[in-house]
Amino acid sequence: MIVAEQKAIDEILRSVRDYDDIAVVSCGSCVTVCMAGGEKEAAGMASIIKLAAMEEGRNVNVRTANPVRQCDMEFFDSPEFGEDGVAGASCVLSLGCGAGVQFMAERYPDKAVIPALNTTFLGVNRDLGYWTEMCQGCGNCILEKTGGVCPVARCGKSHFNGPCGGSSKGRCEIDPDIDCAWQMIYDRLKRIGQLHRLYEINEARDWSASRDGGPRSHKRDDVTADRGAGDE
Ligand code: SF4
Ligand code: SF4
Repeated sequence: MIVAEQKAIDEILRSVRDYDDIAVVSCGSCVTVCMAGGEKEAAGMASIIKLAAMEEGRNVNVRTANPVRQCDMEFFDSPEFGEDGVAGASCVLSLGCGAGVQFMAERYPDKAVIPALNTTFLGVNRDLGYWTEMCQGCGNCILEKTGGVCPVARCGKSHFNGPCGGSSKGRCEIDPDIDCAWQMIYDRLKRIGQLHRLYEINEARDWSASRDGGPRSHKRDDVTADRGAGDE
C-alpha cells in the first residue's frame, strides 16, 4: 500500500486561505487504510476549515467528495464530481497520495489543486498506526534472489551484493533502530535452504526500469485490445 501522512493543519489552512469554496476530496484506498485521507479524515478536515474561517469572520463553503480511488478515472463520473460538487468549487484540497493529487489537477486544469498529505512510501501495516517501507518500485524485482527481503528499500545504502560491513548485532549502521536488511536476507536464505544465493553476484544494475529513466507507464495491450473490441 501507499503510505502517507497528513500535513500540519496550519500548513493546510494557509494553503486554502485564499479560497472561499473548497472541495475536500478523500480517497477510499491506501490513504484510508493508513488513516490519513479517507472519508472520515475528509469530514474532519472540512469541519476544521469551516471553523478556522468562522473564527476569522470569513464565509467559506466546503464540499466533500469521497471516491473509491482518486487515481482512477473510473470513479470520476459520480454526481459528487459534478457542478454541485467538486466541479463547482474554486479549489480542490486533495487527501489522496501524490498520484491522486496530480490526477485531480489533470481533471480540473483551471482549478488550484492542493495536497493535504505528504506521500511517503510503499509499505505494510505492522500494527495499529504503524507502517514500514518495503518497496521503492524499482521496476525490476529481485526478491527471489534475496529471500523476499528488498535490498533497495530496506538496506540503508541499497546495497545489492551483501552487507556494507557496518552492521552490528543485526542492526543497520545508518540507523540502529532498524534491522540490517542484509542480516535479514542472510537469515531468510538460511531458513529456506538457499544460502548459495549469496555467492551469486548481482551484475551492475540497469536502472532504466526505475525512476531514473523518467516517469514510467504500464500498458496492458491485452486489456486495452479487449476493451476496444467490446466497444465496437
Ligand atoms: S527489488 Fe524493486 S520491485 Fe522488488 S521489492 Fe525491491 S524495490 Fe520493490
Ligand atoms: S548495515 Fe545493513 S542495512 Fe544498513 S547499510 Fe549496511 S548492509 Fe545496509
